[in-house]
Order: sequence, then C-alpha cells, then structure tokens
Amino acid sequence: MDESLLQIVRKQVNSAQNLLVVSHVRPDGDAVGSLLGFGLSLQAAGKEVQMVLSDGVPGDFRHLHGSEHIRTQPEGTFDFVVTVDCSDLERTGSALNGYSVPDLNIDHHPTNLNFAKINLVEVEAVATSEMLAEYLPEFGLRITPYVAAALLNGIVTDTLGFRTYNMTPKALRVAADLVEAGAPLPELYHRSLLSRSFNALRYWGVGLSNLQREERMVWTSLSMEDRRAVSYPGRDDADLINILTTLRGADVVLIFVEQGNGRVKVSWRSQPGFDVSRIALEFGGGGHKAAAGAEIEGTLADVQEKVLLATRTLFDEI
Ligand code: 5GP
Ligand code: MN
Repeated sequence: MDESLLQIVRKQVNSAQNLLVVSHVRPDGDAVGSLLGFGLSLQAAGKEVQMVLSDGVPGDFRHLHGSEHIRTQPEGTFDFVVTVDCSDLERTGSALNGYSVPDLNIDHHPTNLNFAKINLVEVEAVATSEMLAEYLPEFGLRITPYVAAALLNGIVTDTLGFRTYNMTPKALRVAADLVEAGAPLPELYHRSLLSRSFNALRYWGVGLSNLQREERMVWTSLSMEDRRAVSYPGRDDADLINILTTLRGADVVLIFVEQGNGRVKVSWRSQPGFDVSRIALEFGGGGHKAAAGAEIEGTLADVQEKVLLATRTLFDEI
C-alpha cells in the first residue's frame, strides 16, 4: 500500500475526535469484526466513536466484546466517516443516509467502486480485518486483546477457518500475531463458525431436501414458508451455502433465499477457474471470484430462472 496514503490517513485519524464507522447490510463475521476492530481501537485512543450496522448484529457474533454498543443508525455529526468491508455505498444500507461522502473506504472486494475520498482496497487480503491488523498500528492505533479478537473473527469467518483458496502465508502470520495479541482462536472458531441452533439445522434440512443439479451446477432455494415451518428467525441461508460447496463434482453452487420484500437474495460459490462475481455484478451485486451475492427484485421462481440462465454462461467459456 502507498506509504504516503497511509500517512495521510494517520494524520486525519489522529486529528479527528468524533468518528463514525460503518459496515454492510446482512453483516457477516468480517463486517462485524472489521467494524469492532477499528471502532474499539479508536475508543482505546480516547476518541468518540459510533459503530453502525443498519441491520444490527446477528446473534452469531453477539459474543464479541463491544458488539452490544453497535447501533443501527448514527446520531449527530462526525469529523471522520469510515466504511469497512463495503464494496459500494448501497452496501451500507441506511447507515449513511443524510451524511456526505465517506472519508475512508477500507475493503478487500475486487468489485469495490472506490466511492470514498480515500480508498484503501486490497484484493489479495483474505478479509478487511486482515488489512486492519496491518494498518491500525500504522494509523497509530493499538491492537488490544478485544481488537485482536474482533479482527481474528473476521479472518476466521471470511476464510471459513483458513481453508478458502485465497488463503496466503501472510494471512496466517497476521492471524498468529492476533493470537499473540490475545485473540482466543478456538473459541472464535467454534462460536462464529461452527455452532448452530436447532432450528438452523432443520432449515438446512429443508434446503438440502430441495437440492437440484444440472451437470456441474447445483442449487437450492429457501422460501419464507420454509422459514416459518421450522421457526428459523433470520432471512439468510444459515450458512447452508458452505455445506453445498463440500459437494464433489459441483463447480458452481447457488442458494436463492426469498426475502419477503419482493426480492430474492442469491449467493454463489465456485471452484477455482470460475468467476461468479461477474454474474453477481450483472445483477447489481458483487463479491469475489469464488464467493459472490446479490439481492434481486422478483419472485423466487423468476429470479431463479434468470440467474440460472446467466450462470450457465460460465460453463460456455471453458
Ligand atoms: P454472501 O453470499 O455470503 O452473502 O456473500 C458472498 C460475497 O459477496 C461477500 O464477499 C459479500 O460481501 C458479497 N455480497 C453479497 N451480497 C452482495 C450484494 O448485494 N452486493 C455486493 N456488492 N456484494 C455482495
Ligand atoms: Mn470481507
């Protein structure tokens, strides 16, 4: 990363007193981890900080220290506004409504639109949290044990426990440094990645029993009725997509989740050699080559038909 850019951010962060840190809708472990990592390190430096997720903190991450202070809307004025893990402004939901262009955008998505005044985007980073572990000390901020736990949470969840194909030696070294700084690796691994509710497993059961295959493409869908039937409280896929990726012989897997607002959330995952972020972008979403998502207007059946048609083109190219 450009040293002079880091020095500029360091100066701006040092002179700011009221800061707003925001991450994305339907927050995952890296959204919560990078938000808390930056927010708690600023607080440790004596700054006034508001941390905002417009969808709130999912139950899976409420064990993280500081998550109880994350708000769903900011209040007041700020002299520095940061987004973390957001590839475009729409990803912040309503968190920045009424506020001007963010001062800083820190992210690792190749589909990032560089929407802030300063954009620190590193597509080789496995998580935005990995970038922060490197940059916070450069900004003059401390990695306290709670900051370390938040950042390791982001790395562990975005890499599914250090096993995604974008893993690097650097990410392992950064993770080791965070463990040394006080992050409880096994506890984070279990609580954020492995533990499930009874109803989430029943919801998986519904999705798994509707699994469909067309050559090397596999998909399933989850409707609002499916959620009601098993009393699953979220409107996500309960991470079922990560189970589909374990299927031998499937190069591209998808899940369609009916949202209840006339929209459908689509998740794509692919094996190396397939770039699903390209298809997600066509539908107004984004992500990485191997993991992408979009929220698309239409009924479950319509969205499924359109998306499968577009996704099939990935196989024409090989
Ligand atoms: P997931 O399928 O788990 O929601 O997301 C997979 C990847 O795609 C993540 O990196 C996530 O940030 C990104 N992603 C998911 N949904 C959207 C979306 O609606 N817009 C954009 N820009 N990225 C998304
Ligand atoms: Mn991320």
